[in-house]
Formats: sequence, C-alpha cells, structure tokens
Amino acid sequence: GFNCGIVGLPNVGKSTLFNALTKSGIDAENFPFCTIEPNTGIVPMPDPRLDRLAEIVKPEKVIPTTMEFVDIAGLVAGASKGEGLGNQFLANIRETDAIAHVVRCFEDDNVIHVSNQVDPRADIETINIELALADLDSVERGIQRLARVAKGGDKEALASKSLLERIQPHVAEGQPLRSFGLNDDEKKLLKGFGFLTLKPTMYIANVHEEGFDNNPHLDIVNAIAAEEGAVVVPVCNKIEAEIAELEEEERAMFLDELGMEEPGLDRVIRAGYGLLGLQTYFTAGVKEVRAWTVPVGATAPQGAGVIHTDFQKGFIRAEVVAYEDFVALGGEQGAKEAGKWRLEGKEYVLKDGDVVHFRFNV
Ligand code: GDP
Repeated sequence: GFNCGIVGLPNVGKSTLFNALTKSGIDAENFPFCTIEPNTGIVPMPDPRLDRLAEIVKPEKVIPTTMEFVDIAGLVAGASKGEGLGNQFLANIRETDAIAHVVRCFEDDNVIHVSNQVDPRADIETINIELALADLDSVERGIQRLARVAKGGDKEALASKSLLERIQPHVAEGQPLRSFGLNDDEKKLLKGFGFLTLKPTMYIANVHEEGFDNNPHLDIVNAIAAEEGAVVVPVCNKIEAEIAELEEEERAMFLDELGMEEPGLDRVIRAGYGLLGLQTYFTAGVKEVRAWTVPVGATAPQGAGVIHTDFQKGFIRAEVVAYEDFVALGGEQGAKEAGKWRLEGKEYVLKDGDVVHFRFNV
C-alpha cells in the first residue's frame, strides 16, 4: 500500500489529526479498517461513487479503498544531528511515500507553542531545515561514493555526481529539493537517494474553527506552499476530532450545523491520494462492490495485480464500463445494451472510475 507520514513540531495538532483519521471509519465492520502499529492507521477513502454503485448492484458488502497514515514522533530543531528522537524520526519519514506537514495556524493560550508564539513561517522552516540537512548528508555521502565509481568512466555515475554537486548549495541553505526545479530525467537520477524534501508534500494548516477566512497565519502557509509547488489543506483538527467521535446520523447533523458538506478529513485523505498520483477503479459484483487503488497510468493487468498476483499473471482480458455509463445505464446489463461495455486487452490503461471485471487463467 501507499502511505503518508504526518510530521510537524510538537503541539501543532498531529495526534489530534491522526486520532480523528483513524476513528473516522464509516461502517466499521464493512471494510478492513485496522491499526497495524500504534502509529499507523489505515483510513478508508471517502468516495460517494461507491454508494451509487451499491444502490445499483445491491451487494452483500461495500468495501472502500484505503490510505495509510503514519503519525511520526515530534521533531525538534537539531533532529538531523541526532537530537531528541531525531534519527528515528528521519528514518520513519524515509519510509513514507508522501508527507503531510501539520502547521499550527490557530491561537489558543491554553496550548503551549514550542517557541511561545504562533509563527507558521518559522515552524515550517524549522522542520524543512531538519529535512534538508538530512538530505545534505545524503548528498555529501552520494558525491563521495560516486566520485569513486565515476573514476572507472561510468557515465551515469558521472551524471549523478554532477547533479548532486549542483543541488548541494540549495540543500545546504535548508531549501527543499522540490523547489529546485528538477526535470523528470533529473528526478529519475535522484530516485535511489530517497531524498526527504523531494517527497510529495502537503501542508495541513490547522486553523481555528473560524480561521478559514481572513487568517494571516493561513495566508503565510499558502504563500510558502505556492513558492514550493506544494498543496495546502486547511482544516480545524479540533472540530475534526469531535466529528470523528459521532455516529453517522449525528455526524450529518453536526456537519449541517457547521455548514460543511463533508468532514475536513475527507479533503486530507483525498489530497494525500492525489499527492501520490493514485486513482480508483471499481469491481461491482453481487458479493461485493469494492474500490481499488492503482497509480495513474497503470495498465489493466497491473490493476488486476492489486487484487491478486494470479490475476495479473493469468490476465486474459478486462471487461470495462466507465463509472458514469454504469450509473446512467443502471448497471452492466444496461451498459451492454447501450454498447458501453468494452473488452480491453493487456495494453489498456485504466481510467479513474472504471468498473472492471477481469478474465484470467488460473
Ligand atoms: P501534537 O504534539 O502535534 O501531536 O499535538 P496534539 O494533537 O497532541 O495537540 C496539542 C494540543 O493542542 C492538544 O491539547 C490539543 O487538544 C490542542 N489542539 C489540537 N488541535 C487544535 C485546534 O485545532 N484548536 C485548538 N484550540 N487546539 C487544538
């Protein structure tokens, strides 16, 4: 699976967000919602399309796809030098596919701020500098290693080494690599280094419940993210924690009172999914209607492999109906009659929302 690490300074609302995320399960018994490790939560992807499909197919079970979130222990300045839980923190981030960086944008005298004032720019810099310093370490070690390899005339080693030398000053200034303006080929060259500041990143601006508009703290986060090409999701973690505690009916009423169409967490989860370049396809049988996650660009056999490796190995064809057609035409039979049911081969690239039935040899 894919996962997103939640980072941020102490006391910004990370645990509050994580707890809300892991409690937010709609219909707990119907999907594989569980916590594997204390700091890892598997969270269902909110997707109204599943309910529409279920209304048509009337299956025994409805199973959403999931995103994994990891609550990563608080970071202090000096982590890259091994201060506090520094090394552990950085090792944990290295294992994640994307980063959700929680930034405190709410004022509350009862909640101590590590540097005594709410200052999103300074907070973001503190974290980003630690991540950049960890990357600087990798850059320096990479240059040394590649210098030895490149002596043998290895062209790719030489290219990688000169790229590392180019990015070194940027990283040494504490700037994230995502703002360096790397092209796709350069990103490919750097892939094996696992750079932390190159991971897809979103800022979760934790605002006061009335802090979504006219909030100078939030404006700062937006400005920083725009410079870096990162995403911002404003959310009030405290409200989200309250929403997550409620039963489904109460929840709908509470959201209504707040004038919200959906919990803010849904935006967090979707943003994480988008950050990772993921999309959803569906299987819609009478036993279960289910959503599956594939990277954008995955072929039909690769999609089949998400269900079972045997499906990929023995792949013959995929029966495909686009979601809109499936719903508009009342299901598979209607889609067939309208000529919207297709048989696709192994080159077919799955589209978001495809309703698929795989044919395979065992
Ligand atoms: P962490 O150290 O980043 O994990 O922070 P926590 O989630 O433990 O939150 C620290 C404190 O801030 C707790 O007392 C929370 O109740 C409080 N807190 C978290 N989010 C909000 C929020 O949106 N508004 C307010 N007023 N307090 C919050």
